[in-house]
Amino acid sequence: MGSVVVSVDAELAWGFHDMESPPADRVAAGRPGWLALLSLLDDYHVPATWAVVGHLLLGSCDGTHPEHPAPIGWFDHERGPERTPDDLRFGRDLVSAIRSADVDHDVGSHTFSHVVLGDPRTTRELARAEVAASLELAHRDGLDPVAFVFPRNRVGHRDVLAAYGFSCYRGVRPDAGDGSRLFGPARKLAEATVGDPPPLVTPTVDEYGLVNVPASLFLFGFEGLPRSIVEPVIGDPIVRQARRGIDAAARSDGVFHVWLHPNNLVAERDVERMRTILAHVDRRRRETPLRVETMRDVAERVLDDPVAGELESIG
Ligand SMILES: [Zn+2]
Ligand SMILES: [Zn+2]
Repeated sequence: MGSVVVSVDAELAWGFHDMESPPADRVAAGRPGWLALLSLLDDYHVPATWAVVGHLLLGSCDGTHPEHPAPIGWFDHERGPERTPDDLRFGRDLVSAIRSADVDHDVGSHTFSHVVLGDPRTTRELARAEVAASLELAHRDGLDPVAFVFPRNRVGHRDVLAAYGFSCYRGVRPDAGDGSRLFGPARKLAEATVGDPPPLVTPTVDEYGLVNVPASLFLFGFEGLPRSIVEPVIGDPIVRQARRGIDAAARSDGVFHVWLHPNNLVAERDVERMRTILAHVDRRRRETPLRVETMRDVAERVLDDPVAGELESIG
């Protein structure tokens, strides 16, 4: 029995604060995109794993975080006249909206302040501080995150996650399809038009006992000019890819793991893309044995299966 997993990198402005010039449309879409996505998931009864940046759970802060071992300047965007507005640094109301949704979502972690754990400059001390601070705030609100999403998908310090009680993380997408011999836009174009379907993935248990739930498809990795050129010809290429992945999962035992940021829902066509994909998930779920799982569900299933767990840890 195959399944679909949806994971969401929920971060408001934190996903961009280390960038020279953050994309204004994406930053502005942080809040409306969050609520739009929640409402779509409700419409189609699709539970998702929301990996939330821990800082969003603070009610306020003075922008200094003196106890945090972050590099100098890491919190500069929280101070001074040019600082990022409060409603893009805090989001307790948005996390409450996840929890009060009709669908039973899973709240996971996306660090405390979007430090890239897989960056070689990120020390173990910093990784530990990011994980500990995000968990402390979550626990204070009665949340118990077990799923972790790495900023920029750069995997690192998995031992720290295991030590703090996480059970799973989103790993990188395995290379797949004709496009793997090409690079960058050419690869994306090939995959979107003629290539193999995006991969189904097999969750595995790593050497720390964590379940790796690799990504299959980023739902907004084909934007801008290429999308505008291809879409009138073959329709939305990501919808096409997502349908192929969902159909493949409906016919097999694999996991089709899609992901996005709420701030990817910049325009109406982005909302429509999500609506079409979620409607297809819902339809196949009714017609076939296909299930929808959260990352937490996948981890529980894999860790409960002694054969799977044992085999993977030996292999
Ligand atoms: Zn702060
Ligand atoms: Zn992120």
